Amino acid sequence: LSAADAAKEQEVVGDTSASEDTKNATIKAAFVSLVRNTDLPSIIETIRNLEDRFNKKFNYPYVFLNNELFTDDFKSAIKNVISSEAHFGLIPKEHWSYPDWISEEKAAYVRETADYIYGDSESYRHMCRFESGFFWQNELLDDFDWYWRVEPDTKLHCDVDYDVFKFMRDNNKQYGFTVSIKEFEVTIKSLWDTTKAFIQKHPEYVDKNNMMDFISNDKGKSYNLCHFWSNFEVANLNFWRSDAYRKYFDYLDRAGGFFYERWGDAPVHSIAAALFLPRDQIHYFPDIGYFHAPYNNCPLDNDIWKKGKCSCEQDMDFSFQPYSCTNEYYEVNKMKKPAGWKKFRT
Ligand code: GDP
Ligand code: MN
Repeated sequence: LSAADAAKEQEVVGDTSASEDTKNATIKAAFVSLVRNTDLPSIIETIRNLEDRFNKKFNYPYVFLNNELFTDDFKSAIKNVISSEAHFGLIPKEHWSYPDWISEEKAAYVRETADYIYGDSESYRHMCRFESGFFWQNELLDDFDWYWRVEPDTKLHCDVDYDVFKFMRDNNKQYGFTVSIKEFEVTIKSLWDTTKAFIQKHPEYVDKNNMMDFISNDKGKSYNLCHFWSNFEVANLNFWRSDAYRKYFDYLDRAGGFFYERWGDAPVHSIAAALFLPRDQIHYFPDIGYFHAPYNNCPLDNDIWKKGKCSCEQDMDFSFQPYSCTNEYYEVNKMKKPAGWKKFRT
């Protein structure tokens, strides 16, 4: 037998370790991080922690994206702390600028008068539009099917001892999250009406087993502001590359709300996932302890918390606090809640 045939043979007979390795080798996945050069001190800590808690065992590569050129110092500092390869990309101008149908004057006026978080920020709006419509089109991601989004100043609280991407693939999941939350209504005033107009035009994209009940309490009449926090995402790039999502993003982009309001990529991703995917392809990771200021996902299940050597306090878990939507996620999907969830609902 040649080595290749031997490997095949092993897969067929379901041999354990070797065939697992062969299967893992076929998963095309990467961490993706949009950062500035000035984020170096915080992204270094985040990646050091990600390596310790997960990637030293799995060695998935990294893709760093930036609207400016990464410095040599940035690149060498990153390479110094990772177990795998890193790719560094400059975002093309078309992915980080105004499309020609947008009035820059009107956008500037909105920023001057907007009284909400990041309301005055131009770069934040380019960032949200980029994370909604363009990161998955970056050529550095062309060879990948899966990604894990990583932001500076985030942290994993627990060891993640299994291959998360393999879990996603083998369990037929497309989108995974750790924290859910309600959006500030003022930032997305016309997002739902725009979404409704889109699905009226394209009912064929709405999955028959969708999760509308997670994002709407009145069967789609209004948006309840629930979304998955997109600073952590483990998902399939091919979902964003689908006709449904491309058309949805283009429709939103034409409507102008990324600039005339302050539409976040989190509600955009979440609404798309909830409507265009069957509900069982969306996954909550109770076991991935995670922090992004000011909230934590900390496993309430003691066995998971101990096995993962989690560094978080379970009392700090956000999942079942009133401002989270994870309680609703459990309800609409008829899932059994972990012991202790009730103490967060006073
Ligand atoms: P927040 O989590 O909504 O408060 O927003 P962040 O400030 O964390 O930004 C979200 C992500 O976009 C992070 O990964 C940031 O590093 C990145 N980001 C935000 N603004 C810019 C920018 O102007 N340039 C680049 N390259 N990255 C940015
Ligand atoms: Mn952030």
